[in-house]
Parts: sequence; C-alpha cells; structure tokens
Amino acid sequence: MSILKSYTLSKLSYHMYLDKFTESDIKSLNKIITWFLWSSNLRPFEDAKSFKNTMTLSRAVHHWKNGGISLWDMKLRNDAQHIWILNRVIANQDVYSPYYQSWRNQIRHNKITSPTLKHSILLWQQFRPIMKLPPHQMKPILSNDEPLPLKLIYHNLINHHHKPVLTSGQFQLSLPPTKIDFTSTRNIFYYINSIKHHRGRNTVFRFFSRSLPGMAYIKQDSCKLCSANDFDPHTHYFFNCRVILNKFNLKHITQHLQIANYEDEWSLEKSTTHFYLCDESSDLTAIIYHNIWKHVSSILFSQDDKILDFSNQSIISDFDIHRNILKLINNTPTPAN
Ligand SMILES: [Zn+2]
Repeated sequence: MSILKSYTLSKLSYHMYLDKFTESDIKSLNKIITWFLWSSNLRPFEDAKSFKNTMTLSRAVHHWKNGGISLWDMKLRNDAQHIWILNRVIANQDVYSPYYQSWRNQIRHNKITSPTLKHSILLWQQFRPIMKLPPHQMKPILSNDEPLPLKLIYHNLINHHHKPVLTSGQFQLSLPPTKIDFTSTRNIFYYINSIKHHRGRNTVFRFFSRSLPGMAYIKQDSCKLCSANDFDPHTHYFFNCRVILNKFNLKHITQHLQIANYEDEWSLEKSTTHFYLCDESSDLTAIIYHNIWKHVSSILFSQDDKILDFSNQSIISDFDIHRNILKLINNTPTPAN
C-alpha cells in the first residue's frame, strides 16, 4: 500500500488538484490498482482483462482500525482535492495556482466561466451539507479557524459515501452468541490493532476482514482434513475442524507459558474475549490463529507438498520467541538524542 501511494499515486495526485478524471479514467485506474494489490506476481497486467478484488472498495477505503486497508477511492480523492483548493481560494489563503486571481474575480462578479471552477464549486456545494452547512453560502469551511485540511475533507467524503458493509460471514459473526462488533468506533479491528505479534495480527485481521488469501477461491464440498460437509471454510479450519482441534491442548500451552486466566476451550467466542483484553493473552491467541493458518494454508495451497507443522510445540516456540523479542525491545535503553 505505501509503495502504491508514495511512488505511483503521489505523482498522479499532483495533477488531481485541477484535472478532472473521467469515469473511464477512474475505471482504468482502479483496475490497475486492483491488479497491483491483489493479483499473483506471475500475472502481467492486461487492460482488456478484469482482476478479482479480495475486498470491495467500500471496505478497503476505510482505515485498518475499521477493517479496511486505507485504499484511496480515486474519484473521492480527486473530488476532495478540488474542494480543498476552492475552499482555500474562498478563505483567501495563499494558493499557488495561476488560476487563483482569475477564480477570485469570477466568484466576486458571480460570472463563472472556467469549467474547472464550475466543477469545483459544484463539488464544494455538495460537500457543505455533509459538514452540516447550508450549501449555497460562499463562506469557507473552517476547522480551528483554518480552512479544512485535505485529510478531513477526504475522510468526511469517505464516511459519507462508503458506509461500513459487512460480508455475509461477518454478519453471521455479529449475531449471538458471538456478537462480534464490526461497526462501532471500538470494533474488533480497533482491538486487533493493538496485538503486538506482527504476523499473528496480520492473520487475525485477515480472518475478521474475510480476506485470507486464497479462501475466496476455495470451491470444495468437504474439508480436506476431516471431510466435514456443508461448511464455511473461514470458521471451520480455525474453530470446528476436529483434525485441527486434536492437534493442540490449550491447558498444556498456557501452563507451560505460565499465562493465567486463559480460557481452556478453543472457540471463536471464547478466543475473541482475549482480544478485548489487549495483554499477553491476545498475543497468544493471535499466535494460535497464525499457526493454524500456516498449517492449513500449506495443506490447501502448497505447491511443493511441504506441510508446515502445527502443534503445542509450534505455538509455544513462537510465543517464546515473541516474548524474548519484547523483552529485548523493552530493556534496550533509548539512544540519547
Ligand atoms: Zn475439517
């Protein structure tokens, strides 16, 4: 994502302040972005082909604390930049644009001849009600006495146009007994964000955002491990597959690692309670998720038949390494400035 934003889109976004994208521009751009983010390394980009998203735009545009990946919505980004620049012209701020003087004259005499200005005013007037302001008043939109920053304009547009959407799987998880919260400000992703074990956090994020690589492509009638039928692969492999459940013992693991008050039973419901605690137990839970995923994905997708181990020992040794790394980080004196 940072590669995409800093090396590619930043060059383009410079032009986005004044140039308006057409619908086909946006379509092509989104297609290239989808290809870059989601398709396999082996697949070259071809304009005529379409590429599969692992996450819909309406989910991907949100911050990852809200289950997205902060992907730019290129149309809204383009709109936000037009609104931002016009707002600054109206606020009489220094705007480094050759259009500036001419725009101010056109606005003052209420004779709008520039198509770009016309378009920007339209967007700006549509944006005002989102900020609970009357649309036609020609007064700048301020925040702390300054023209509203671009970031906030874009943020408000995103929240207005992309309401959080739950996948059918997430919808199921939001019902009793699990009742996992996906939409409030303190939703499950908010807590996932504080997991310290990087890979564990990544796997847990992908589990709850339903974006585990490859899972969308699985079309099989029964589980590859236990032959159960009629199953949701996402939750089955992590919580219901008896082959997986027989491979580890929580009591043994937590006693060995001396983690107190850990639920003995491994279920979605029970394990989720540990994420809300934001302590060692959330890291252990994330490490178990990650170990299950490494094992299952090597069975489902490995091309060289190398199956990654999953056992009490694999979990314990990952957690030991994690604990030692944390100790090292916490004991290292901060370098003098
Ligand atoms: Zn199974």
